[in-house]
Amino acid sequence: MKILIVHAHDEPKSFCSALARRAEEVFKAQGHTVDFADLHAEQFNPVSDRRNFSSVKDTDYLKQQVEETHVTEVGGFAPDLEKEIRRLEACDLLIFSYPLWWFGMPAILKGWVDRVFAYGRIYGGPKIYEGGLGQSSKRALVLLTTGGGPDVYGGYGVNPPLTTILAPVQHGTFWFNGFLPLAPFVAWSPARISPEERSNYLEALAMRLQDINTEQPLVLPPLADFPGWGKDSKKRFMVTVTRTQPVDEKFKSLIPAEQSHLAEWRRLGLVLEFHMMPPQAEPWRAFMLIRETDAAAVQKQLATLPLAPWLSFETVEVS
Ligand code: FAD
Repeated sequence: MKILIVHAHDEPKSFCSALARRAEEVFKAQGHTVDFADLHAEQFNPVSDRRNFSSVKDTDYLKQQVEETHVTEVGGFAPDLEKEIRRLEACDLLIFSYPLWWFGMPAILKGWVDRVFAYGRIYGGPKIYEGGLGQSSKRALVLLTTGGGPDVYGGYGVNPPLTTILAPVQHGTFWFNGFLPLAPFVAWSPARISPEERSNYLEALAMRLQDINTEQPLVLPPLADFPGWGKDSKKRFMVTVTRTQPVDEKFKSLIPAEQSHLAEWRRLGLVLEFHMMPPQAEPWRAFMLIRETDAAAVQKQLATLPLAPWLSFETVEVS
């Protein structure tokens, strides 16, 4: 497998760099080919302008996608950009390694995305989503370090949830270009934890990467679900879940299975939102927003929940 690690940290001794280098080590030990694009060390120029091109379509007005289409047809990406585009085209697994900056990626990496994912050559026309460069088979991973901790990004914190923060990368860059996004690897607040905890992160990363080939990616909706690229052909259903039987030992023993079932539904994009009352609440309720074709399909899915015999479901279509 050919792996491209695009790394964006200005300090080679940083923890973020340590994670990226550990990933490189693990992949090499497995016999994979690793291309390590250290953007700072290579002094990558992130500014997108006429210097992207050695041939010009319109000398009077710069429109990046017009010029990209032109040089895709006649040749003429600037040599530094051509090199990066080839790196991207060659990889089977794409990794972005970076510290979270202003809820996003550092400018040097954003500039790499802006310049390298070029219209015509990489995306555009039929080359988007499942028809994109990754062809719905190549995979992509975010390796992230943060300043804030997991509570701040967990959905009930002062900052937006991490899924929202990562949407421009996971959905807007990876999946838009046909790369299947894997769950991100996040080292929370490495500057505020102990050396042992940092060491545990490095080990956890090495362990996870051993099986990265068999890991199931996150499922984002294909373009085929949006006729004429309009509204989703799948509907939204709000499901109110009520407990109808008392909690017994059997119920308790099935909780881990129920949790994995729900996690799988989230991975598949079937459950878009899930909220529940504290377990001791009486009466107890949970609420799910489900993306499905029709109400019958929702009922069929709900019946597969391990705890279904203890629960009742009220399903309404919402718009
Ligand atoms: P470092 O400080 O480099 O590393 C932490 C510690 O790990 C250091 O003591 C280092 O010596 C040690 N270390 C290095 N290698 C190893 C090793 N092999 N084993 C064990 N220890 C090691 N945070 C947010 O949450 N949200 C934001 O929006 C945000 N915006 C930011 C914007 C800017 C411009 C900046 C500068 C920071 C921002 N931050 C934000 C914080 C930033 O995300 C964190 O500072 C960064 O992710 C921490 O990772 P690091 O690798 O830089 O840590």
